[in-house]
Amino acid sequence: MLERDLQRLFGFTGFKKGQKEIIESLMAGHDVFAMLPTGRGKSLCYQLPAFLSPGLTIVVSPLLSLMEDQVTQLKKIGRKEAVAMNSFSSREERKAILQSLDSFKLIYLSPEMLQSKEVFAALADQKISYFIIDEAHCVSYWGHDFRADYLRLRDVKASLGNPPTLAITATADENVRRDVIKQLHLRDPIHVLDEVNRSNIALFVEKVESEYEKVIRVKELLARYQLPGLLYTQTRAQAEWYSEQLQHHHSDLKIGFYHGGMDSMDRMLVQEQFINNQLDVICATNAFGMGVNKPDIHFIIHLQQPLDIASYVQEIGRAGRDGSPSFALVFVSPEDRHQATRLIRNQIEEHMSLDMLPQLLAQPFDSDKERKEQLKSSYGEQGQTILFLLEKWGVIIDDKGRSSIGTSIIEKLKVYFEQQERIRQQRLGTMMAYIDNDQFCRRELLLRSFNESVAVQANCCDQCGATLSHYKKREEVLHGKSLHWKQELALLFHQTQNRKEGDISE
Ligand code: ADP
Ligand code: MG
Repeated sequence: MLERDLQRLFGFTGFKKGQKEIIESLMAGHDVFAMLPTGRGKSLCYQLPAFLSPGLTIVVSPLLSLMEDQVTQLKKIGRKEAVAMNSFSSREERKAILQSLDSFKLIYLSPEMLQSKEVFAALADQKISYFIIDEAHCVSYWGHDFRADYLRLRDVKASLGNPPTLAITATADENVRRDVIKQLHLRDPIHVLDEVNRSNIALFVEKVESEYEKVIRVKELLARYQLPGLLYTQTRAQAEWYSEQLQHHHSDLKIGFYHGGMDSMDRMLVQEQFINNQLDVICATNAFGMGVNKPDIHFIIHLQQPLDIASYVQEIGRAGRDGSPSFALVFVSPEDRHQATRLIRNQIEEHMSLDMLPQLLAQPFDSDKERKEQLKSSYGEQGQTILFLLEKWGVIIDDKGRSSIGTSIIEKLKVYFEQQERIRQQRLGTMMAYIDNDQFCRRELLLRSFNESVAVQANCCDQCGATLSHYKKREEVLHGKSLHWKQELALLFHQTQNRKEGDISE
């Protein structure tokens, strides 16, 4: 019985919603597409089958820190047959792992690792029991976190003889689900979908006329509501700027920032501090959050409007994991709109012109890696997509590492990137409709993209009459506990200051 194995291997007394169905389907040989919220226990859905089956299970995961975490956690409960291999592993480590694959049941790999011929050859010698794609929304152009490396996974899967495959994620709207299934060639997959709605998160939108007004409002909110809170910005510079402004104003709070431009050690540190309550607030770009499971975040504020509904749902879903009443608020100002439109514009145009590509590829490259790096420095993140598409369209690389491409290929690339821009525009349009809406229930609008209907509930959204005054105040929370004298003083100072500000405006 599966429950007995669960108890024996993990010490858990029962499955959480969705887990058993995924595990049984996978073990019966089906492909599975699954969507369960963060914190539900998605990892267990492949770890248990991996330990119960004779071969090796491959887990593709985009985040290095997540892989390491999982391996460490498994070791803690005595399961040593798991290993992670990524670009951090040294050559020797990789070699040692590949030579001892027989002794593992579970191997975590970054998608780039699977591109390595050496790695692939070693895996092809093994009996692969399951192929797992964690954070599977990364496969889709429609997803908010598309990675070109993920597109190659279907070929890897085919070369491994199409083992039962699980694509699992926390958020994927209808379009993404369809696309992931298509891109990965899942065969008649079983769908295990949890509902997207999080009824304990109330939804608000607030319009402000200027950045100045916004800063004042956010300062107010941080003084008023129970922390910790998470603030999302659109750009890296904004994350740093807000964290500095807010820290300056709230010297009693600890405020940090997080974005993709920081080195990975710094990012890990900030994330850990937030999780361990050493930081009260983080100002972050969308680089923050995948795999972060902090149960007590009380609010998520978007300081600039999000670019699409799927990302928004994913980001606000980080509030109130412990079930306590939480809120999600989006600020919009006229400037933000311009920035949003700019951000989704075809970024390829901001790099080198595509017309230069034939010249670039006509030169010899010593290795695939060198070619990849050159394209990245010329075309940014799209460089990878270009390489993938050229490979898909059968562009040949000669023995000197040169390839010749004509104008028809360039045209095809242009069409491709234009189409991507259209998709982004469409998604932004849906997001704008959510923000500008002053008629319908916000929750209903959010869930429409997921084909999910919603029942009437209390504290739903501003359109349905919910107000922020309902949420727990910082003072109440602080006075419940005994305070350090410094915090008391800071609080008193705040109150007098707020009163004074109130006096002036009256
Ligand atoms: P997700 O990937 O869905 O965000 P994780 O796989 O990281 O979630 O698991 C979140 C937590 O839930 C982990 O601490 C894990 O040990 C725990 N967990 C998973 N399955 C169960 C279960 N059946 N019973 C109790 N705890 C579980
Ligand atoms: Mg996970």
